[in-house]
Amino acid sequence: MDRKNINRNNYNSNLLKILIALTVVICVVLVAVAVMLSDKPDKAEENSDKEITEKADEEKKSENDNATEEQPPQEDAEVIIEEKPEEPDEASVDTSAWNLVLANPWNKLPEDFTVELSDIGGGHMVDSRIVDDLNQMMSDLARAGHSAFICSSFRTNTKQTTLYNNEVNEYLAMGYSEEEAAVEAGKWVAVPGTSEHQTGLAVDIMSNYYLKLDKGQEDTEEQKWLMENSWKYGFVLRYPNDKSHITGIYYEPWHYRYVGKDAAKEMFERDVCFEEYLLG
Ligand SMILES: [Zn+2]
Repeated sequence: MDRKNINRNNYNSNLLKILIALTVVICVVLVAVAVMLSDKPDKAEENSDKEITEKADEEKKSENDNATEEQPPQEDAEVIIEEKPEEPDEASVDTSAWNLVLANPWNKLPEDFTVELSDIGGGHMVDSRIVDDLNQMMSDLARAGHSAFICSSFRTNTKQTTLYNNEVNEYLAMGYSEEEAAVEAGKWVAVPGTSEHQTGLAVDIMSNYYLKLDKGQEDTEEQKWLMENSWKYGFVLRYPNDKSHITGIYYEPWHYRYVGKDAAKEMFERDVCFEEYLLG
């Protein structure tokens, strides 16, 4: 072997050593990087899991949203109506319709208001147009095993004036001023001209098992049945407990007002009182 070859061999073996060393270094670096990465895999995974879950939830949500928008499931339809009341349908809220006449503390009946009455027995009269529905409701109530009777119906202006004055006098006797007495009496007995009883569309119904017109009526089976079913016959509980600030009349769990079946159904489903319904 000549010197040239020896030198070349040395050169080759040195190169090999360097290559091996480099390879080792690279391997060490790779291992080190691998170890570093494997140090925090949990957090990384956790985060990405979270993100995935959140994204999946979002996707689900938007899928549901889309589904609701595009094809509302039958069962959800009513819920949507509750959350987002439909725009008032002018045809259904025709405030000049006979069955939607409004009498409340702020709306006196016209002086010339007249109504064709029918005798329903027991000394009671109502608007002739509501007799069939009223009779049907009362007979279905009885058929359901309950016992109630109509204790108040149409009132003339004279009758309403007498009732109102009696109430005012009670407050005067309790020491109220005339002004205060008038205001307080008006919360219990409508000021003449503003009573629904003058429309012939309202009736007070009393349970035979609770012969008082006070809050206790609401606990009777008769009122429970009426509150649940009266809308099917076109009647609504006119002065609900939580709507006094809108109706202007204290809670009366016995006073039912005929508004017609369509309006009654909508008021029942939307849980709105008559004033709210008329506003749309
Ligand atoms: Zn009444």
